[in-house]
Amino acid sequence: KKLGIALVGLGSYSTYQLAPALQDTQHCYLAGIVTGTPNKKQIWKEKYAIPEKNCYDYENFDSIKNNPDIDIVYVVLPNSMHADFCIRAAKAGKHVICEKPMAMNVEECDAILAACKKAKVKLGMGYRLHSEPYTQEIKRLIKEKTFGEVRYVNAEAAYYSGGNPNQWRLNKALSGGGALVNMGVYSIQSLIYGTGENPIAVCAQEYSTRPEYFKDTDETITAQFKFKSGAVGHMMTSHNINANKLHVNCSNGWFVLEPANNYGPLSGITSNGTKFNFPHESQQKLQMDDFAKHVLYNAPNLAPGEMGRRDMVIVEAIYRSIAKGGSWQVLSLGA
Ligand code: NAD
Repeated sequence: KKLGIALVGLGSYSTYQLAPALQDTQHCYLAGIVTGTPNKKQIWKEKYAIPEKNCYDYENFDSIKNNPDIDIVYVVLPNSMHADFCIRAAKAGKHVICEKPMAMNVEECDAILAACKKAKVKLGMGYRLHSEPYTQEIKRLIKEKTFGEVRYVNAEAAYYSGGNPNQWRLNKALSGGGALVNMGVYSIQSLIYGTGENPIAVCAQEYSTRPEYFKDTDETITAQFKFKSGAVGHMMTSHNINANKLHVNCSNGWFVLEPANNYGPLSGITSNGTKFNFPHESQQKLQMDDFAKHVLYNAPNLAPGEMGRRDMVIVEAIYRSIAKGGSWQVLSLGA
């Protein structure tokens, strides 16, 4: 059986990544759309042969509960709309995939988790890298301690933003934050799978060089992390710098992914000169198939909602540290 996915929000990520990937998925397919733009509905209906009864707008979305064609609702809207649509999807009895960042704050993440639990539906994050072989190789090297104990990890996820200054990503009411909630989430994720553990404390700094463009949201943030094992981490995220890297330094060598978190193909090398070499497939295809297998066959949920919440706890601690002049913030995330 193939599960039916409805994409909510037909912006650039749905248009150029998710919908094309859903043409190749084996365990799910593009069954429906939810859009606020009638013109897009016509285009998508024709392009992907989506029946009228599987097309919704933001107002009639809740009636999706009566539609057996839709098993999974994938929320791909501006961040401020994630909680509302994830909760409505759960109430409609649909499994949910939520794009990153999970929501505007930890409180909203808790509300999404509670709604999914109450409705007994599965919740996954759009963290595509967990289904991707280069990232899985990093996790394997860490788990098997191939290069010994991790001592230092550096993660960079950033891009130069020079487009429309009024885009929702630069509007805090719609985004919840700037570079940190957009690309910074990848740096946080990299630090965690690059050490194999959750951080126990963080301190952070913010830099602003183009305040006329970044009126409302953070431009560049660096943060330092302590881990229980003694490992030390550093991250950088920015809307003003192009960078995309994960560097793990261990007691007996190192390994690097660069790029580490774009749509791929990724590239990696170790201190003994071995290049990572995996066939490239759409990360989004792998991610949506992994989630569908979780729903269908109880395969592991590689990026559960709790992971999205954990990252939001770290995001809030970073903003808190900056507000308190860069002081260390203790994190109680467990192992
Ligand atoms: P986008 O701006 O291209 O699309 C946003 C969509 O939301 C548009 O279709 C727009 O019409 C709709 N929308 C509804 N209400 C809106 C409002 N008030 N303001 C602006 N747009 C509104 O954005 P995107 O790049 O597709 O990002 C959507 C979500 O996907 C975000 O949460 C983003 O972080 C996430 N994303 C994830 C990845 C990834 O690699 N996992 C990549 C890109 C985006």
